[in-house]
Amino acid sequence: MLLAPYAMHSADSRGRRYPEPAHPYRGPFQRDRDRILHSAAYRRLNGKMQVFTGDMGDYHRTRLTHTQEVASIARTLGRALRLNEDLIEALALVHDIGHPPFGHAGEDALDECLADEGGFSHNRQALVIVEELELRYPEFPGLNLTWETLEGQQTRASKGADASSESPTASSPDSAPGHLLEVKVVEAADSITYDAHDTDDAIELGLVEIGELEAIALARECLQRVRERFGDVQGEVLRRAVVHELIDRQVSDVLTHTMSVLVQNAPHSAEAARRADVPVCGSAGLIEQKAELEDFLKKRVYRHPRLIEVRRKAQQRLRAMLELYAERTDLMPEKFQARAARVGPRRSAADYLAGMTDRYCDEQYQRHFGGKVC
Ligand code: MG
Repeated sequence: MLLAPYAMHSADSRGRRYPEPAHPYRGPFQRDRDRILHSAAYRRLNGKMQVFTGDMGDYHRTRLTHTQEVASIARTLGRALRLNEDLIEALALVHDIGHPPFGHAGEDALDECLADEGGFSHNRQALVIVEELELRYPEFPGLNLTWETLEGQQTRASKGADASSESPTASSPDSAPGHLLEVKVVEAADSITYDAHDTDDAIELGLVEIGELEAIALARECLQRVRERFGDVQGEVLRRAVVHELIDRQVSDVLTHTMSVLVQNAPHSAEAARRADVPVCGSAGLIEQKAELEDFLKKRVYRHPRLIEVRRKAQQRLRAMLELYAERTDLMPEKFQARAARVGPRRSAADYLAGMTDRYCDEQYQRHFGGKVC
């Protein structure tokens, strides 16, 4: 399919930090995607919790399955908008690669431990991973991704970072005014995905009753549509059908709204779309409905007592381990001992901990502190 004029065309890529010859049959963004897919950090997403932990069963999303769902929805949006699907996929696969164990609880604990040295954010950590920590190629450190993929991730890092903190790595591209449409598509897909799957997981885990969704406008509309189409379905069939509707409704609205903006603006190039800061988002109505659903999830799911307890314990473990590794760098693998001399023992300890899966982190805690996992 022909890319739209406002798509990021591979031939216009600004290239890589360490120049490489073109590949005979893979474009630059396909290569980025493959490099991310083959990285150790990507594989470890399988052992990292999204919202819910392994103790709560094996139905719910992990950081890896979340990433795959984001990539799938982002590609659907990208194809319909005739954007660069290879770049979209690379951006989606890398977007959560910097997550430490134990989700946002883990991130908050590391951020607190590094408060005096720039803090910790999973979005910035993704750049550290792909530019420094992954050592897979003899010719260069990191994955040597294209400028565009790095810039997309930098966008996320800058948005989350506090204004006074410096760019995470010197080689990261400066954030430009406005961003490529491909970057915005992944942002939109991330939000669509977690709103839908966190609702699904919360009901499956029994944290929320499906009937409670009647009070949330977006979910109520989905329930109504399911009943119109399938009659009086119940239980798991109802839950799954509602989640399909939640995704479909959001994707359709974002597409309709974004296409109408693109028709009005008619940007003639990716740069023109960037300069005009053409948004990729839903209608005002959907944005309002999503805010209501997210508020519900925050109160009823993310702050559920079962999760708060899991988080509190995980944070204690991470804090204790960070102090231990910073004091005893010899307990870390050689790579992180050497890194401690360059970036300081606390930062290197955080880099090591952030790369761990939930289970490996628990095992190491037991090894060093003994007894049962706190
Ligand atoms: Mg995400």
